[in-house]
Amino acid sequence: MASLMYAQQCIHCGRSAFVDNYYKTGAKYIKCYRCGYSYSKKVTKTDSFEVKEFLGYGVYNLVKKTGHGEFTFIQSPITDQLKEEFYLELLKDDVDKENCYLVSYESGSFYVLFGTPTENFYLTFDQYKEKMEEKYGVDNGNEWFIAIEH
Ligand SMILES: [Zn+2]
Repeated sequence: MASLMYAQQCIHCGRSAFVDNYYKTGAKYIKCYRCGYSYSKKVTKTDSFEVKEFLGYGVYNLVKKTGHGEFTFIQSPITDQLKEEFYLELLKDDVDKENCYLVSYESGSFYVLFGTPTENFYLTFDQYKEKMEEKYGVDNGNEWFIAIEH
């Protein structure tokens, strides 16, 4: 199925969120790899949609030495128990610790609890947009199209 993928400003944290827009059916998915915000609009029947939205409380990027990764959008406040579960997982031998990170998002602020998020992680949406436009150029008539980069 045809979809357009592009970045837009996250309505929750203001950084860059990624959109997967199935323009033919009206289905749409938004995920923010910075704060964990997620939105989905699924087609259930013709002209009928199911909308789900979760505010982000942070993100957890777990990468195994095999290169296989698991990305978690945290949808409830991070408790001490959850932190402990993440830390225990990070200690395992098959985990590529250098590429893992855990960030919490609380009351409008980001807190890096473990690891080093990507460079793009820290950019405001405008900075991100500028970087993508410098890198890939601006497609006249499609200025809204901003590339996706984690
Ligand atoms: Zn966000």
